[in-house]
Amino acid sequence: MERGTIERWLERARAAGVVGEGGLNARAEGAEALEAAALLYPASVKSAGGTGYALLRIAAAGAEGAGQGPPVTRGKALGVFGPRAAPAGGPFEGERMALGRADALIGPLSHANADALRRALPFTAPSPLAGRDVTFGLGDRLGLAGPGHIRAARRFRASPVLAQQSVRELDLTGRSYEEVLDASTWSVFQEGYEEPWGADGDHLKTEDWVRRALAIGFTMITADVSDYIRGEHAAAGEAEVKQAYAALPEDYRRRIEEAYLSWSLQLDTGVKVRFSRGGLQRLALIYREAVEHAARLYRAGAAVRGEGGFDFELSVDETATPTTPEAHAFVAMEARTAGVRLSSLAPRFVGEFQKGIDYIGDPAELERTFAVHAALARALGYRISVHSGSDKFTAFPIVGRLTRGRFHIKTAGTNWLEAVRVMARLEPALYRGLHAAALERFAAARKYYHVSTNLGNVPPLDTLADGELPGLFENPDARQLIHITYGELLRDPGIGEAFFAALERHLEEYWAGLEAHIGRHFQTLGVPVA
Ligand code: ZN
Repeated sequence: MERGTIERWLERARAAGVVGEGGLNARAEGAEALEAAALLYPASVKSAGGTGYALLRIAAAGAEGAGQGPPVTRGKALGVFGPRAAPAGGPFEGERMALGRADALIGPLSHANADALRRALPFTAPSPLAGRDVTFGLGDRLGLAGPGHIRAARRFRASPVLAQQSVRELDLTGRSYEEVLDASTWSVFQEGYEEPWGADGDHLKTEDWVRRALAIGFTMITADVSDYIRGEHAAAGEAEVKQAYAALPEDYRRRIEEAYLSWSLQLDTGVKVRFSRGGLQRLALIYREAVEHAARLYRAGAAVRGEGGFDFELSVDETATPTTPEAHAFVAMEARTAGVRLSSLAPRFVGEFQKGIDYIGDPAELERTFAVHAALARALGYRISVHSGSDKFTAFPIVGRLTRGRFHIKTAGTNWLEAVRVMARLEPALYRGLHAAALERFAAARKYYHVSTNLGNVPPLDTLADGELPGLFENPDARQLIHITYGELLRDPGIGEAFFAALERHLEEYWAGLEAHIGRHFQTLGVPVA
């Protein structure tokens, strides 16, 4: 950021009375408030320990391309004002200026400044949310959705997990965990959101990634143990299972037989969960290594944050067949025996939870089997987590009711789809280019995702008038076409740059769209309004 830009901003802010001799003064009314709003985000203005903080609209000072780096930071700056706002060697970086009785420090939305802000204003840092009833994962692959997500979460009694990203998503978008967390911090600051929120290192498979995410400041780990689930034993014959089981260590076999063969759990729904000898042997073969790996991931996290210092979700959702009640109980109790404190568990449910579209399957069967998972979670002391949870409007009333209003849901791609829906509505030419590119790249993107998309159901674009383009977002096949190609599209410099430039022109429309769309999720889930 150039000093000239900052000086021009300060000059305008002084003339408008937004800053004065004593520091920040943005609580103006009427015309002055309008002038202030052009210079900074009014909801961001906070004071702590005699120092004032605000998110500045530095582009208002005519800065060309002010602020490099991720789009969330462009045209913005952090302002710190007060009698000792800018001591040399202080935690913030930027240009230091004297105002009179006070100092100003105006700096970039850098990682160092995000870290310093998280210490100065603790509400801009995420926190563990295990004690909350409703938590809602809102993956934001663009780093621009935050304000819309916050506006939706504010209207309901739900805690948002604003930062949520898997390593696969980082690879596909070329972002880092620092950038993902910082984008959420700046959004929280911009909106003045002082409620607790979370940050989820999603689908992490290695101890190294767990340590890395928590060290950066993430507060939730979703442990993905799918590489250690031995699904081949699910289809093996009884004799085969018996033989393979006999080869497991003797002390392990003795321990689980003592623990589970005479054990049963009467659930509050009337169902009783118990293990047969053959069933227990099979579960041990399928899940023993997965539980061991979950324990390794948990211990890696506890070494960084301490026991109970972070939310730990165990995901067994990426399997070929639905999780049975016995498998759910075995995995959860074995994890507990290994010292793991579970905040939530994600089983694989019956039917299909595909990305960005409604539930596919028999709602009655989902209801019957989901009831058992929800009761198990209640009995064993954690919450059920629903992955690929966006747009499952048929399933939501079941989820909300059977969990008795205590659950975690993850969404991600739907937030990108809302951005593209804005393009279809307001930038039809750009949308047509994006759609054509998505068709070209669909085959390459498809290998990352399990989808049953039939492109034959997507009408050819040249048959649609501009006004009909937003209607494509009601078409499940068209949704998935755009949903899974995000990485291919955003990494293409010709497409990515134009897309971000256009989206920055329509951010308020994007945030309004998110507030409505995510709000519809909360409403259908039966989350009480705030
Ligand atoms: Zn998952």
